[in-house]
Amino acid sequence: MTEFTQQAQLGFGYLRVPMKDGKADPEASNALIDRFLEKGYTYFDTARGYMDEKSEEGLRECLVKRHPRESFRIADKLTIDYVASEADILPFFESQLEQVGVEYFDFYLIHTLMAKNYQKFLDIGAFEALKRLKAEGRVRHIGFSFHDTADLLEEILKNHPEMEFVQIQFNYEDFEDPAIQSRKLYEVCEAYGKPVIVMEPLKGGNLARLPEKAAKLLSALGGGSPASYGLRFAASFPNIKMILSGMTTLQDVDDNAAAISAGKPLTKAEFDAIGKVREILQAEQAVKCTACRYCVKGCPMNIPIPEIFSAYNTQKRYGGWNSRMYYSNSVRGKGRASACIGCGACEDICPQHLSIREHLAGAAEMFDQKKA
Ligand code: SF4
Ligand code: SF4
Repeated sequence: MTEFTQQAQLGFGYLRVPMKDGKADPEASNALIDRFLEKGYTYFDTARGYMDEKSEEGLRECLVKRHPRESFRIADKLTIDYVASEADILPFFESQLEQVGVEYFDFYLIHTLMAKNYQKFLDIGAFEALKRLKAEGRVRHIGFSFHDTADLLEEILKNHPEMEFVQIQFNYEDFEDPAIQSRKLYEVCEAYGKPVIVMEPLKGGNLARLPEKAAKLLSALGGGSPASYGLRFAASFPNIKMILSGMTTLQDVDDNAAAISAGKPLTKAEFDAIGKVREILQAEQAVKCTACRYCVKGCPMNIPIPEIFSAYNTQKRYGGWNSRMYYSNSVRGKGRASACIGCGACEDICPQHLSIREHLAGAAEMFDQKKA
């Protein structure tokens, strides 16, 4: 794909900009967008559901009406919640063009593809529809955003070589996470020659607000803010071509742009420091599961224990983020936390000597509405 430069670029995730009276605050948004363009970046990411359905309209008012079309690129998405059948796709797509105020999208994605909705997207002919839109010149490039396992990603890429790029959740905290699988997803994309767009490089902004001990480790390196290390971590992987950030202040734009435009992959010392930061974050987790998976094989209820603990830890630590979605993905076709019969086979084998049954009861209360 020639749309992407060799070095990763910064993309503007238009989903958390300042709001006023239920709408994007035009003046604050104008200033953010103008500053972003001044920095030489051009990619804006939107979807119908963002900002209580005000994101597309906000881009129209603050970007499209104020800047020449050739000076920016827009990515929009086909979200399953808005289309029940094949006949709904074109009207929905046209409503998006109208809402954003453009005649074509530079990038158009099947949104949040995962096992739960893959068949539905197939049933309504979503992949075919995107191919047609591309052939008609109404979108320039087609791809999908993805939240599931590396195995499913591989299956999809095998079956749909027409997809040109993949958007994945990728950050240093999720790099080896058993549920999110950032590293494995990246490796599948690389193997299939698909450029990667990164979402959540700072895990919903959380890696910009590190615990003091972790923040000190990074500031001792003298290379920039915690956020800049998160962005540069992603930019250090050669097949990552776009890094989306939900910027809400001019300082965010300046800081993020400086981190990416420097074009400096992390040094070995910086990678090592990030590794230590990850250890600090892991040590603060509610369940110190190392995802060794020894417990999984012998569970008579086929409970994906490490994946459940990953979602549980994220929910405990960061609250209402996307852990419920990862929990649902992980237990699909397997045992939920509440399915544990308390046999204890897992605890006999766990090298961390975790009270797995007790933690699963907590997860069941959190995710399955079952009281511990
Ligand atoms: S105690 Fe629960 S999680 Fe552990 S092996 Fe038995 S059923 Fe599976
Ligand atoms: S055996 Fe213990 S540490 Fe290993 S995955 Fe299972 S719960 Fe986690």
